Amino acid sequence: MIKIKDLSKTYRAGKELFKAVDNVSLAIKGGEFVSIVGHSGSGKTTLLSLMGGLTAPEAGSITVAGEDLQEISDDRLAALRNSTLGFIYQFASLMPTLTALENVLLPTMYSKGGRGRKDAVQLLEEVGLADKAGAYPAELSGGQQRRIAIARAFINEPQIILADEPTGDLDEDTEAEIMGFFRHMNRERGVTFVIVTHNTALAATTNRTFRMTGGRLAVA
Ligand code: ADP
Ligand code: MG
Repeated sequence: MIKIKDLSKTYRAGKELFKAVDNVSLAIKGGEFVSIVGHSGSGKTTLLSLMGGLTAPEAGSITVAGEDLQEISDDRLAALRNSTLGFIYQFASLMPTLTALENVLLPTMYSKGGRGRKDAVQLLEEVGLADKAGAYPAELSGGQQRRIAIARAFINEPQIILADEPTGDLDEDTEAEIMGFFRHMNRERGVTFVIVTHNTALAATTNRTFRMTGGRLAVA
């Protein structure tokens, strides 16, 4: 489902070069439930952005759902990002002028599928926020905003979820609920998960864990 070969990504800041992802290879099959752990600055977010086609590598290849991200057209890439992939970003990214329900529905505006209000309400229920459908982000706690962003990632029925520290600012009970929801979507719908976390206990609940250290990836 995701195949990465000899992938490297270097950031340039002035004259300084910084290799955030260093020659990483990795294969994740459809229906897998995997985690990536590592210290802050080890390159986890960069690797996830590469997998999602949000940034381009300077070396190596990335294939997602059979498509080579360096080869496909911008339109195909946009369609892949909108429909095949669901992103949960490390930092909340809700539209402040839209309600919780409208935020969850936002990705459907750029896609053909028939998902609508009922599905969005159902997803809000699954993340425990059915009563907040009409609330604006500013009226929600950080953890609630995060759960809205989680619901939004599922609205277009993605095959793959890329989640960057999805439960980082949630209390333990809510974290367990969200992980339960992820597991449910994994088992019942076959959704493939790649979950970045620095919670090793949470990582231990996934089927396979990789560790990132200074841009290099190893099986943990
Ligand atoms: P993690 O998610 O593991 O904390 P990141 O992938 O965010 O790590 O960052 C890896 C390294 O790359 C860090 O040293 C960070 O400072 C650097 N970095 C990330 N994004 C950029 C950028 N846009 N420009 C320059 N350096 C960056
Ligand atoms: Mg990060």
